[in-house]
Amino acid sequence: MNRQITASTCCYCGVGCGVLIEHDGERILGVSGDPAHPANFGKLCSKGSTLHLTGDLTARALYPELRLGKGLARSRTDWDTALDHAANVFAETVAEHGPDSVAFYISGQLLTEDYYAFNKLARALVGTNNIDSNSRLCMSSAVVGYKRSLGADAPPCSYEDLELSDCVMIVGSNMAYAHPVLFRRLEEAKSRRPQMKVIVIDPRRTDTCDLADLHLAILPGTDVALFHGIVHLLLKEEWIDREFIEAHTDGLEELEALVRDYTPQSVSELCGISPAQLRQCAEWVGTSPSFLSLWCMGLNQSTAGSAKNSALINLHLVTGQIGRPGAGPFSLTGQPNAMGGRETGSLSNLLPGHREAANAEHRAEVAAYWGVEQLPASTGLTAIELFEQVRSGKIKALWIACTNPAQSLPDQNAVRAALQACPFVVLQEAFRTTETAAFADLLLPAASWGEKEGTVTNSERRISHVRQAVVAPGEARPDWSITVDFAQRLEKRLRPGQTSLFAFKSPAQIFDEYKLLTRGRDLDLSGISHELIDQLGPQQWPFPSGATHGTARLYLDGVFPTANGRARFIADPYLAAKEQRDAEFPLTLLTGRLRDQWHGMSRTGTAAQSFGHVSEAQLSLHPDELGRHSLQSGDLVSLQSRRGSLIVAVASDDSLRPGQAFLPMHWGDRFLKGGVNTITQPAFDPLSKQPELKYSGVRLEPANLPWTLFALVEGDVQQHFETLRPLCEAFSYVSLSLAGRERPALLIRAASLAVPEPAVLHAIDQCLGLSEGPVLTYDDPGRSIGKRVRIENGRITAIRLAGETLAQHWLQNLWLEGRADQELRRWLLAPLSAPPGNASMPAAGSKILCNCMNVSQGAICTGISSGLDLPGLKQKLGCGTQCGSCVPEIKRLLAAAAQPLAIIS
Ligand code: SF4
Repeated sequence: MNRQITASTCCYCGVGCGVLIEHDGERILGVSGDPAHPANFGKLCSKGSTLHLTGDLTARALYPELRLGKGLARSRTDWDTALDHAANVFAETVAEHGPDSVAFYISGQLLTEDYYAFNKLARALVGTNNIDSNSRLCMSSAVVGYKRSLGADAPPCSYEDLELSDCVMIVGSNMAYAHPVLFRRLEEAKSRRPQMKVIVIDPRRTDTCDLADLHLAILPGTDVALFHGIVHLLLKEEWIDREFIEAHTDGLEELEALVRDYTPQSVSELCGISPAQLRQCAEWVGTSPSFLSLWCMGLNQSTAGSAKNSALINLHLVTGQIGRPGAGPFSLTGQPNAMGGRETGSLSNLLPGHREAANAEHRAEVAAYWGVEQLPASTGLTAIELFEQVRSGKIKALWIACTNPAQSLPDQNAVRAALQACPFVVLQEAFRTTETAAFADLLLPAASWGEKEGTVTNSERRISHVRQAVVAPGEARPDWSITVDFAQRLEKRLRPGQTSLFAFKSPAQIFDEYKLLTRGRDLDLSGISHELIDQLGPQQWPFPSGATHGTARLYLDGVFPTANGRARFIADPYLAAKEQRDAEFPLTLLTGRLRDQWHGMSRTGTAAQSFGHVSEAQLSLHPDELGRHSLQSGDLVSLQSRRGSLIVAVASDDSLRPGQAFLPMHWGDRFLKGGVNTITQPAFDPLSKQPELKYSGVRLEPANLPWTLFALVEGDVQQHFETLRPLCEAFSYVSLSLAGRERPALLIRAASLAVPEPAVLHAIDQCLGLSEGPVLTYDDPGRSIGKRVRIENGRITAIRLAGETLAQHWLQNLWLEGRADQELRRWLLAPLSAPPGNASMPAAGSKILCNCMNVSQGAICTGISSGLDLPGLKQKLGCGTQCGSCVPEIKRLLAAAAQPLAIIS
């Protein structure tokens, strides 16, 4: 076997870590951090380091599939037929209903070259601005914040500022989970310089708070009030930089007048924190030699997202903390190439090179460069508006690329109705298993991580060369190539006989055309090429032609890219979130991330390792809230919002306040019937149009579902997923997950009000391999109980418990341990299973804390009780020695164990 190493990048978050892919040209065999990459210097997090274990081939789209009529199944076709059919439908739709009757919904996970090809296709060829990206759900409020306050969409900082700062404020970001490698850099910096202050602002006490000197658990949505309260104190105490304000800013008077009312007392009441906490925060912000802020979805995904971003940037302008080492407002991008999307104009209101679609001069510049008469002046639709217009029938052909709107958009009932109603849905996607794939009339298989080439820009404006390691499986093709091939066919129909706008033969050629559109703009990257990155390594823009190195920091001279060169204070008042808790919906649902899952789980959801830390969907509630609802951990509830409901198990979690609930954003309909976004709201920010995915009013009702089912089957989990998930539609509650490492298995927990038809169980048993062969059975038809366990070579390989599932955790543990000896067999299917000991409960500590070294919480707790400290645990168990993602949780266990016993007098 010819083992090779290809340097590329991780395909998950906006940190943009460099990876070394080990492969044999056909298969990816391993992955490690690239020591030469300046984003991570060889480190990877738990997601990046398991990349090679994800992306199961059986989940991949391998060849084009076409449905020739609604209600029919898709069938395999060839690329020519697929793309000609798509070109015919798009051309006919445009001819009959106009260019704005079609739309493109693309992704922050595309490469820059893919984005550019799509933009040119939509705007220059089709003539529509109906091209938006899932970055609308992620970063569009940060885009507006930067542009309104500083004049351009440009994060001004570098990652090394995390190490240089004296005061770091992390707002609305569980950085320990969402940007782990950067968080490790911050942890190391703080351990070297303990005097560095870390402030975390988050309604939940997340792992990120373990590093905090001050945690402000503000009430959800009150960030603007908090920032105004801080400015109030900064002004009052003269913790400001008058010289900077006078030389480089406009608009302080208006802000000063506004924040007068944001007294410590009123802010304390609005935000639910003490005046002393507020004052401490303001003092550190105002008196630290350098101040850096980091933020993510907690600010952006809000109906006040733009106001929150600008209110935070105000803190930097009033203190002059921008344009120098260790200082500045630094938005962390969620997706690997959200920045590339912003640069290439991949939001409906933008054009390439940080231009505006509404600006006639900008349109004329791009049209002239592309050699077309004009670009469309009509307002393009943003994500939520776009799917509303699909539902209303105005959009008749929709092209979706590399994203999963049937999982990720809010108000899923409306989104799925839109996709169902759309006459023609094209899905360009690497995975055939996503929720959206079910709605595709045409499925086009796309190359995935390690299989394609191009560039990405990370959060610090650094452009990396993404290199191909292996050939894509089946007939999958790189996204740029699919887009260009379709565009070439469409232009034959829309502008016959004219010179092609899409004569691209490689991604490098696309990049070279694109980069000249940035010349003279704030992001000027005209000096960068694929070859230059290969020579010099990843580079930060601006990097104009002739430059020899990139630009680490912006605005060093205090000159901003506004009309007069001055930054602007924005004085937006605090507005309460639109959907407040009320008598009907008395709880606030928050959403966020898990440590080892990524977005809609199309990739991480294929690997059992990703489920070791959190195994299945659970709704977290404060213990007092559980008590108030007479619930215990594991009980099922009906979670209801104004838009829909779902059934989910609850878990006790004191990191939340009473009155709040938390459900991770990852669980779509495949894994949790309905999916989290059945609940979330589509209301959006008036400027950024970014929806309020973080915050919904909800209520809980008991789920009276007496009939329960548990099933486990090892083997080809994707195949089992595909056959078993549709059968589970018969149940009200359905939760699927994966378990195991060497022998992965699919797990199903389900419940319903009534006993299902025997045919349903029969079909499930057939899929589980429990209809024949070495299967132990127990049936009690009078009580609708039926149990099956398959034992092969002395090991359990499949389980189905129906009507009574008390032994589910015990049997799952036996399966995991590979045990099914004679002694145990008499217990396996006993009526009202009463297995030995307390085995009806989940195995204590079975949760995997350290995914890299496969170390469970139980093993770590045993180590702690034997007297081991963190270095001792690392040495003895290996936990925390690789990516470090588990270290905050281990520290918490150590701290809990160190609590002195209460002395009762
Ligand atoms: Fe990938 Fe983790 Fe790096 Fe993000 S921090 S790019 S997920 S390895």
